[in-house]
Amino acid sequence: MYALGLQDIDIDKIEKIPLAERLPSNFLKVFECEIPEPKDDEVLVKIFGAGLNYNSVWQSICSPLSSKSLIEGHVRRNSKDIHHLKNYYIFGSDGAGTISKVGAKVKNWKIGDQVVIHCNVVPTHEKNIDDMKSLSQSIWGYETNFGSFAEYTCVKYNQLLKKPAHLSWPEAGSYMLTLGTAYRMLASINGAKIQKGENCLIWGGAGGLGSFAIQICKMIGAKSIAIVSNSEKANYCKSLGADFVINLSEFGSFEYLNKLESPNYLFWKKFKNKINDVINGEVDVVFEHIGKDTLGFSIYILKKGGRVVTCAASSGYLAKIDLRYLWMEVKSLIGSHFANLQEAEMANKLMINKTIKPVTNKIIKFDQIPIFLDKMYNRENVFGKIGINF
Ligand code: NDP
Repeated sequence: MYALGLQDIDIDKIEKIPLAERLPSNFLKVFECEIPEPKDDEVLVKIFGAGLNYNSVWQSICSPLSSKSLIEGHVRRNSKDIHHLKNYYIFGSDGAGTISKVGAKVKNWKIGDQVVIHCNVVPTHEKNIDDMKSLSQSIWGYETNFGSFAEYTCVKYNQLLKKPAHLSWPEAGSYMLTLGTAYRMLASINGAKIQKGENCLIWGGAGGLGSFAIQICKMIGAKSIAIVSNSEKANYCKSLGADFVINLSEFGSFEYLNKLESPNYLFWKKFKNKINDVINGEVDVVFEHIGKDTLGFSIYILKKGGRVVTCAASSGYLAKIDLRYLWMEVKSLIGSHFANLQEAEMANKLMINKTIKPVTNKIIKFDQIPIFLDKMYNRENVFGKIGINF
């Protein structure tokens, strides 16, 4: 079968290049490999649609870890998955297709079923525990092999969800990772559990996470304040129902950190006042994933008792924060990562019953994946999700 990702020889070459000079498209390639054989609790899915996620950017530039190290880590935690150790790594953590083979212990699913695959790999089927806290938990197509960028993928049967009948294959294959993540971050008791009437500041409002965060706020009755870098992204956020949009390009220069990478308090104060003026109130929750550049400001801007919920660090993971604004103003910083089985199912129901709409605005061909990962990395004008047609 055909697949896209990296091979061991590419990883050796990438790791010799300084990080700042690496680009996702540099070494990504389509290669031929064998069709994986499902184990007892697995299914083989023929992929008809998939989606791009930022984790493929990280894998392609081997930062902070190469796929080889990530998958070796998964196998150390899950010795039964030794078959994931290959000399190639198939990327892709979002996909949809039809089941073409089922393992002996698979229940409730059969050959021909149309499915969406979520990326939480855990060896349990219990719905009443937060399995994101399980020591063996991994993300499919990132910390495990056989991702969605291939003709076929092999996944645990507890990763399967019903495909919403009204969605095309690229739409169905591109929403789950970011919708599930935004759902846990905002709606779940494991995240910020945002309430009706609260104000939520959303970084990267037009991105994959942001465009679902806006819709989740709307669904709950919270007010969203989407931060974007240009007017096209601003219009897009408004079309999704954002209550307020802050277009950074209209605010002059932005320096969250000064030259020594310490908090730029003067700028923080000015920007906080500006945002509070625009919303005529204060921020209760910040939806964070930018990291180093903004985390300190995200804590600072909150009203007393507010919450920052974070799942990522696109600008860098070693962030400086001024702890005085955390403890003296009794705020919380909540870490969040994808979604447990129950949260993934709840998020999928919102798509099935059309409460949340898909945000797949661009559909690309399989061989365009590397170029579009470059665009994501360079923050070019891509909105919502990018779907892949097979
Ligand atoms: P997208 O590329 O779709 O959107 C991110 C948006 O953030 C961009 O559109 C950009 O908007 C804004 N942004 C601001 N500063 C930066 C920066 N320094 N680098 C990149 N983007 C920036 O990505 P996603 O929304 O899908 O994901 C965002 C981050 O969250 C990624 O790091 C990803 O790996 C992580 N993630 C983590 C998950 C988890 O479970 N832990 C799940 C999903 C994603 P603008 O140009 O308008 O400012």
